[in-house]
Amino acid sequence: MQINQKFLHYHFIESLANRLKKDDLDTAAVKDEFYRLEAGLAGEMRLQQILTEYSFKNDAQIIYNFECKNEKGSTHQMDALILTPRFILILEVKQIAGTLFYKPAQHEFYRIQDDGIHENFPNPFDQAYRHQLFLENLFASWKLAIPILYTVVIANYREKSDNSLQNSPIFHISGLPSFLENLNKRFPVKSVNLSFIRAKLDAIYFRLPPRRTVESSRLRRGVLCRECKYLHAMQYKHGSWICPVCHFKSKNALNETLFHYRMLIKPHITNREFREFVGIYSIHAASKLLMRLGLEKVGTGRGTYYIIPENILGEED
Ligand SMILES: [Zn+2]
Repeated sequence: MQINQKFLHYHFIESLANRLKKDDLDTAAVKDEFYRLEAGLAGEMRLQQILTEYSFKNDAQIIYNFECKNEKGSTHQMDALILTPRFILILEVKQIAGTLFYKPAQHEFYRIQDDGIHENFPNPFDQAYRHQLFLENLFASWKLAIPILYTVVIANYREKSDNSLQNSPIFHISGLPSFLENLNKRFPVKSVNLSFIRAKLDAIYFRLPPRRTVESSRLRRGVLCRECKYLHAMQYKHGSWICPVCHFKSKNALNETLFHYRMLIKPHITNREFREFVGIYSIHAASKLLMRLGLEKVGTGRGTYYIIPENILGEED
């Protein structure tokens, strides 16, 4: 899986949703954001599946989660960018349940759920149009003329579209192959060299910095049991972590705890910080556990700390 800002942010929010103290004021908002990000990722997986199955007429390249900054310093995050020698297509993927409505004059995009709840969303057409203008200017500055288009695809099968969306560039993701076929007919002339534009875009790709951090005092301590949705702290017995409530047994639950630490606090940890976060009293027991994890040790004496690697989760048990 491509590690980029979107996934980092997802892992940050996922870790936060599992670790934030129950009485924290942000708990409900973080859980909501986590469900939204999870739905977004599911939509992107669906898109990848459809595009992998589709055979492009010419060479084509797909950049998922293209991120960059414009000349004014504001950011662009595109769910996917399809590059072909004849046209470029910006895809905005939405995974929204319920019925979608649009008021074009007001630029208002909202959904009504089955239970009648009305909720406004950022207008995806304005978002995609902003990306289109940006890319058009960029390509003009590179002296390249190629049609740049955008569309919004809905990845959720249960979503219904109201008639108010009839004239908007939005359709269900299953319609993407026929949409691409039509674009091929509409733009029969090859106008650019694909590897040239790919190199140009790669050069402006910019990984956006993490959006948030959290004070460790707001987090719950311990090796939390994932089978209990992280409600209970596990105990270490004979080389395994065991949940006192559901009796789930895991050898690598500690890796997940350190993954949370890496995502929420920082990518390295001292023995003391480790004891505090995991809830262990003995320095020696902590040293042993850190050794067993095989973490790289830096420094000596009081300044010693351990590096928590990006792949700390390794393989699932
Ligand atoms: Zn449990």
